[in-house]
Formats: sequence, structure tokens, C-alpha cells
Amino acid sequence: MTPVPPPPFHDRLVHLDLKGAPPTIDYLLSFMDTAASAGATGFLVEWEDSFPWSDRDLRSPTAYTEDEVRSFLDKASRLGLEIVPLLQTFGHLEFVLKHPRFRRLREKPEFLMDLCPLHDDSSPLVLRLVDDLCRLHPGISRIHLGGDEVWSLASCEKCAPFAGEHGRSALYLHHMEPVFRHVRSLGLVPMVWDDMMRKWPPAELRRMDGVQLVVWRYGVDIEAGLPDGMWDRFADSGLDLLAASAFKGAIACDEVWADVPRYARNHLSWLRRAARTSFSGIVLTGWSRYNHTTCLCETLPAAVPSLVTCLDLLLHGGSVEDAWARSAPLLGLPPEHLPGSPQMPTASLPEASFPGSALWRVSGRLAAARSARWHAVDGIKHHLPEYNGGRRNLYEWLRGAENAQKALDILLSADADIRSAASGILHDPDIEELIQAKVVMERREAAAAKARAEEAVAG
Ligand SMILES: [Zn+2]
Repeated sequence: MTPVPPPPFHDRLVHLDLKGAPPTIDYLLSFMDTAASAGATGFLVEWEDSFPWSDRDLRSPTAYTEDEVRSFLDKASRLGLEIVPLLQTFGHLEFVLKHPRFRRLREKPEFLMDLCPLHDDSSPLVLRLVDDLCRLHPGISRIHLGGDEVWSLASCEKCAPFAGEHGRSALYLHHMEPVFRHVRSLGLVPMVWDDMMRKWPPAELRRMDGVQLVVWRYGVDIEAGLPDGMWDRFADSGLDLLAASAFKGAIACDEVWADVPRYARNHLSWLRRAARTSFSGIVLTGWSRYNHTTCLCETLPAAVPSLVTCLDLLLHGGSVEDAWARSAPLLGLPPEHLPGSPQMPTASLPEASFPGSALWRVSGRLAAARSARWHAVDGIKHHLPEYNGGRRNLYEWLRGAENAQKALDILLSADADIRSAASGILHDPDIEELIQAKVVMERREAAAAKARAEEAVAG
């Protein structure tokens, strides 16, 4: 008998982005069972403002309590799942820097994401946050320190000349090295996202010895757009590499639907890379907001079929269809057809058995409404007489009006559907935010498209 090779990614961490529509603790606990059954080995938990920080200003009104955090960690321990907390320590620190009392620590006064690395109070703030996070995470072995997308790096009057003299990488490390040392003094292995280092030479990368580098790519071709030689430089650095794929939240910042084939193809691309580069693990990211101030992406329950299928692919390989056929029974769904296919249209998804599946079905209807509205807007705007030399196309305008009406019909009960499906799963403010962003705005745009089509028909 031929021995079955081990999966290419030993650790399979599911990212919980809790800065957008964080689920109730009850839902989170049931979600952990689903993820564990599907092959997850742990969670990367981006608590952000959902954590019960000692500094109460940093907590959202629906932040988890300390007891809830403990129940999450206890359950992970019972399931044998690793927990890796994630704390942004440089860029994307808007949940801290948005507060007026921390404004002085921004790299640019008007940009609320990045910390100034040369401000005397920046490093002490970050170390305090690390300690506060670790206080409630006994027994962890590593911590993710973020460190990605520090877009305004080297902008302020102190940092610009520093970077000019020593280089941007030196400025980056000037801030991060004390954090790495602190984390190591707590017995933890630090992890960071890789994007700031993609052009660094191996000698500079080696200054991060002992840090795990998490290489994130979310497209269907993960190689597209990477700097030449990046993989060789990362390999030469000797750093422990992890991959980061996506099972949700990587298509558009206002997405409503987690498209299974699209996310599965991202994982297939990672499997091809893993045949050439060694990774100790993979993080399956599931973005809920692109940053603290943008609108919500699709919800976590709406992405469970995507997550389960992607985990299956990582474990067993094969095609998207193979992975779906193996995953569907776990979800209580028919294995013959992929969600979103003509045989399983998003507008009328079947009942399923996984926790939160009602929200998945609603998200399918929202996707169908959005698609109808897009078709309406496209059909109308490309045939408007003011832009086409005054030519009339009654057929396109009537079709546009029909598509807009189709969107409005689908959205008719969507507010109530979301409230019902999300009850007990999401918190009330997040449910209302979802309704405003995904239903009210969509309805307004569909109504405007319909009115424009009718105006063209009448004219
Ligand atoms: Zn600065």
C-alpha cells in the first residue's frame, strides 16, 4: 500500500477577524466544533476592540467578557486546538489611534492607522497591550504582532530623516525588534505578516531570526504581483514561513457572499506553491472588515461552506468539485452541485445543517439581489441617450427596469430575514449595521436604477 503523504501545511489556523460583526460567544463555541471537524488545528484570533482590554476605552460596547474569553480558550483546549492571539503593533492600529488621547502617537495626524515608531510613548503602549492580551491567554506558545501595511511609514518629521539615513527597513525594525524581544521574554514566538519585507535582502530578513513570517496572498493566482525573487529571498533568510490564504473577505470590502470556487482556487494556488517552498503552516484568513472604519464584509456564518471546502482541499487536494463533494455532507448540503452554480443558485439555497446556515442562505439572496442590480445599472448606463449620441434602445431600458425590480423583490423581506437569521449569532448593533449596508443601501440603488430606466423609457 502506498503511504499517504502528510498534508503540506502541518498547522491550519483559522483566522477570526473579530473587528467586524464578532459573533456571540455561543455561536463562536459551536463554530469551533465545525472548524475542528473540518481539519483546523487552531485559531488566529484578531480580537481588536472585541477584547476586554484593561483600558476600557479600547473595548467596543459588545466586547467579550473575561469569562467569555476563558470559555473560548477552555473549549479550544478541550478540542486540542491552538490559540494564537493577534495584536497589531505598528500599522492598522486604528482601534487605538482613533481615540483622541492617542492621536499624538500617529505617524500622520490625519491618518489613524499607523503608529509613529520614534515617538517615546509608542513602544511602551505596544508592550502594555501585549501584556494585557497575554494576561488572558495562559498557555499560548506564539503571538501574531501584525506589522502589515504600515502605509505612512517614515512620514513624520522624526521618521523621514531616520529612514533617509538608515533605510526604511531599519526604521521598521527599530520599532519591531523591542516588541520581538519582549514577546520572547514571555516565552512566546512572534509572528508577523510579510508584506513590508517582500523586497528586503536576506541579510535584513535575518535580523528577524526566530520570527515566523506569514506570507499572505488571497487571489486565485498567488504568484501574481509579487516582487521578483521574493520566494528565494525568503528561503535564503532561513525564517520559518507560514502561508496565509483566504476563505472570506478577500474579494471586496462590502462583499455579501463567500464564493466557494473562488476561495478554493486560492487554496489550490497555495498548494502549488507548497510543492516548491516549505511552509510550517497556513492561516486561513477570514476578513470581516478591511480596517476598523470600513463597512462589513460577509459574515462568518455565511462563509462556513467556503471554510470547510478550503480546509478539505488543504488536507486531501484534488479539484474544487472533489473537495465540495467531500465537504457537503458535513454541512448538510447536496454534494452534486456547488453553491452559486446554476443548479444551486444563490437566490434559492437549500436548507443546511451547519450552525448559522440561515444567515448563509440570506447572504445568497443578497448576492442575487446585488447581481440583478448590477445588471440593471450596466444595461441602463451603457445605453443612456446622453452618452450614446441620442440613440434609443427601449429593450435595454425595459430589461434594466426588470432587473432593478428583481433586486427590489428579493430585498423585500431581507431586513426581517437578516434579523431572524442572525438572532443569537450576532449582536444587535452589528445586525443593524448589516441591514443598513447590505439591504437599505442596495434597495436605494436598485430603486434609483429603476427610476432612471423608466425615465429613459418615458423620454
Ligand atoms: Zn514618526
